[in-house]
Amino acid sequence: MPVDRPFHPIPAEETELRLDQALQLLAHSGVPEPRGERGSAQWMQQLIDALVELSSRDALTGLANRRAFRVALEREIDRVARSGEPALMLVADIDHFKLVNDNHGHAAGDEVIRAVAAVLADSVRPMDLVARVGGEEFAIILPNCPHTFGETVAERIRQQVERLRVPVGNGRELAVSISVGGAFAPQWVRSTPALWLERADLQLYAAKAAGRNRVLLEPTADSHVSHDEKRLLFDSTSFQDFL
Ligand code: GH3
Ligand code: MG
Ligand code: MG
Repeated sequence: MPVDRPFHPIPAEETELRLDQALQLLAHSGVPEPRGERGSAQWMQQLIDALVELSSRDALTGLANRRAFRVALEREIDRVARSGEPALMLVADIDHFKLVNDNHGHAAGDEVIRAVAAVLADSVRPMDLVARVGGEEFAIILPNCPHTFGETVAERIRQQVERLRVPVGNGRELAVSISVGGAFAPQWVRSTPALWLERADLQLYAAKAAGRNRVLLEPTADSHVSHDEKRLLFDSTSFQDFL
């Protein structure tokens, strides 16, 4: 016997999808709008894909944003724990960036951020993820990255930024530099986003303290497992996760 359920009709206005705002947002952001018949399943899927794309991107540079970076980071940690392939995280911060804003204005600062972002994006492989994680701070995840390659790519990025001349109006051009820190994920051990990032950040601080415009990667002999990561390995729950 079917159970009698009280019938609550949904008011007509609530069954209508409110799509115009989403479409307007896409139109303003340069993300292609869905094609085909409005409201069809295919059209809706394209709309969802476009919105996901939009919410993953940084508006100023077009790079992955902090949210997308977090998702990629967790995925990479899983992959390293399963495959044991070396993966490198680089973090980069523009040197003395406050001076750019103070001396040339915020708009010039934005141009510098955009130009540095473009260099980073051009310097890595298609499989690598470059994100803008803060004002003038960037992070790069390089999956399956041999140790010597990591050193080379980080140094290449630094040099290419050093060679940049960023036009900032009135015929003025600015030169900038970045400091870069890096750390490999511990192979065969599940790290956490926070611990991995912390090790890369430590190297970045050290690069700043050592005079800026330089690359410092954590020595690979030490990078297999940090103290906290060892604790994770022997903690029963995460050990089971790992298995
Ligand atoms: P350091 O070499 O130690 O990194 O010195 P710094 O001057 O670069 O110091 P810091 O990294 O703390 O400076 C960050 C500055 O970036 C402060 C803030 O005003 C500026 N900033 C943050 N986001 C933006 C942005 O989107 N556009 C512009 N133009 N400036 C930004
Ligand atoms: Mg900074
Ligand atoms: Mg800075």
